[in-house]
Amino acid sequence: MKLIKNKKSNLSLIEKRIKELCGENKPNGFFFNLTQDNHIVKGALLFVNEKFIKLTEKDNDLEEDEVDITSMKDFEFCTAVGLSYIRCLKNGELYELCRADMRYNSELSAAAKALNKVVREKKSFDNLSQKNVCKKCGKILKDSATKCPHCSMGKKGVLKRLYMISKPHLPIVLLSVFLFFVTTAIQLITPQIQKSMVDNYINADVSSQNIVHVTKGLFILVLGLAIANLLVRIIGIFRNNILAKAGNKIVIKLCSMTFEKVQSMSLSDISKHTAGDLMSRISNDTAQISRFITNILPSLVEQSLTFVSVIGVLLFYSPKMTLFVVAPIPFVLLLHRAIHRYTHSLYHKQWFVNSEANTVLHDIFKGIRVVKVFGTEKQEIEKYDKAIKNTAIVSEKNEIIWNVLTPVSTFAFGIGSYIITYFVGNKILEGTMSFGDMTMISSYVAFIYGPLRWASRLPRMIMRTFTSVTKVFEVIDETPQIADSENAMNKEIKGKIEFKNVDFSYDNMNDVLKDINLTVSPGEMVGIVGKSGAGKSTLLNLVMRLYDVNSGTILIDGQDIRDYSQECLRSQIGAVLQETFLFSGTIFANIAYANPSASREEIIKAAKLANAHSFIMKLPDGYNTFIGESGYTLSGGERQRIAIARAILVNPKILILDEATASLDTETEKLIQDALKNLIKNRTTIAIAHRLSTLRNATKLYVIDKNTIAESGTHEQLIQKGGIYSGLINAQREMHKISKESDNHE
Ligand code: ADP
Repeated sequence: MKLIKNKKSNLSLIEKRIKELCGENKPNGFFFNLTQDNHIVKGALLFVNEKFIKLTEKDNDLEEDEVDITSMKDFEFCTAVGLSYIRCLKNGELYELCRADMRYNSELSAAAKALNKVVREKKSFDNLSQKNVCKKCGKILKDSATKCPHCSMGKKGVLKRLYMISKPHLPIVLLSVFLFFVTTAIQLITPQIQKSMVDNYINADVSSQNIVHVTKGLFILVLGLAIANLLVRIIGIFRNNILAKAGNKIVIKLCSMTFEKVQSMSLSDISKHTAGDLMSRISNDTAQISRFITNILPSLVEQSLTFVSVIGVLLFYSPKMTLFVVAPIPFVLLLHRAIHRYTHSLYHKQWFVNSEANTVLHDIFKGIRVVKVFGTEKQEIEKYDKAIKNTAIVSEKNEIIWNVLTPVSTFAFGIGSYIITYFVGNKILEGTMSFGDMTMISSYVAFIYGPLRWASRLPRMIMRTFTSVTKVFEVIDETPQIADSENAMNKEIKGKIEFKNVDFSYDNMNDVLKDINLTVSPGEMVGIVGKSGAGKSTLLNLVMRLYDVNSGTILIDGQDIRDYSQECLRSQIGAVLQETFLFSGTIFANIAYANPSASREEIIKAAKLANAHSFIMKLPDGYNTFIGESGYTLSGGERQRIAIARAILVNPKILILDEATASLDTETEKLIQDALKNLIKNRTTIAIAHRLSTLRNATKLYVIDKNTIAESGTHEQLIQKGGIYSGLINAQREMHKISKESDNHE
């Protein structure tokens, strides 16, 4: 056992050691975070140079042990309250290899499986479990991260990103800076005019001069001042307009970049974020970045320019006075630096609580029907109150800090002005300076305090922007778990579907499907049957490649579905799912959703085949009736027929049917069954039917039980077999009888 003491470094001890051990290679292994007596640690079990090395970092010390894996077997992933661990047999006795809290469940579960493979099948641990580590700094990354947030989101990284975003708009930013330069030059001349006004006219000895001449001169100077001011305002209007235009373009670009990324994510990627979180990133953070580029960035250049030029002029008049002005600057900078870490983390905290409050609000609005039905308004108000109170607490802390820091900085900057007033006052008393000089110097000093006061607010604006850049690019940099391969195919499919030894689990821990083998020929209809939660919908999700299999393959026309582009695959697969989501819009737009170029005739034909035409024609505005959130509400049966019309319009080769469980009246059910018959003609169909009678026409039925296919055959064959399927049919008949009897009683 080796003990290594921590030396000051940006990396944690364990990260540093992993970097030493693995060099440029990706480390193979897994992480954990608890000791056997449940102390929090940073732990890793790595496979390096054909050896297993266990690293445990605790209290600034790193323990390193070699693990003799050959003396171990039967690795098992176990869970207990709030934690999980890997247990195995070591020299015939139970031995705990490592433990972690629940966040590491999937990592540990996958590791136990991988270790069993290493021992049983004598497989190398290489490639079984490669960790994602930043090549540059050695930090351990999320598996989906393409870039290290530490390296790419440090100060340099953020500035690089900001530069990248603002690059196309640099000419506008530069033009605005140039215009500001012009206005600054005009403004720098005005104190000279004021000095001349005071010394040569206002304070002049009028008796010795021609009064008319003096008044005329004064009028010209005042007019000059007014024209200069007007010019500054006009240039200002033009500048603000071009910057606002550029700002809007940046927001559009960033929003669509982030939104496109979100759209390209798989379902499991998206489910790692809440709707509120993604909405905050897409709307608020992109706006903040744009504000920075078009507002704060030009101001930064401008204020610096003003500062430097006024300092130049002041230096020319009096180096001593310049010193008074700049003396407090280092003090303010040190103050901001001292609290930087705290304010930085506070901004991230504020972002999280805001996003949490958004999520709560979003959930409540989405589930408003449930809230109303159960009368839980009070409970929801409390939930939202709690969320906004949390945001208020963090925001208050933030505000207090800046409310103190900003005036303190402003006051510190202002100290110089008192000294200057005293200094200049004395000079006037001594007779070495005129009143005109005093007016001019006061104007310059006022000029210089503008940038300084602005600078005292700058850290806050920068902090806010840095947080937003991090949040937006965290999404943009994420690697989608489901991505097209480099040579992804785009070809028309015939519709043969095969599952070969398919295993799947959502969390790497609990198998949902195991060793699934089935074949569906083109044009054939198969039915998937099983109890609720058996994995039927999961099987359909896998055909649509909403998730990738953990092992085995799914083939379409003999080709792995991962070889097709996602667009090619999904455009040829149609789905009628249990929940038909209708977007806010007309019936027309909802049917045409997946085929917006369809003509009106095609849409009406699809609606007729889906038995939807007659009910649509009875709606107030027919096909133009507005449905969705703020529109007309359709019944379950009507929604289903809209979904069928949608699928008919797409004309897919493969059809996925996950029939709704809602009980429908006999007439509607017949309409839907007829519509489905029209839909499945000449298409490969995989259907889940909750009313088993509807699957009688299926060529073959597969019964899923205990995560795998337990029975298969035609309806008659399975009934004759008297197994799970016939049990399900009997149970459904019983239910039917009971509900009929209770209907009769009523
Ligand atoms: P069925 O369609 O047969 O009713 P599902 O395929 O919907 O069953 O679900 C199978 C199992 O997978 C269930 O235990 C369910 O809780 C789980 N499951 C379904 N969807 C997810 C998901 N997105 N994440 C994690 N577990 C899931």
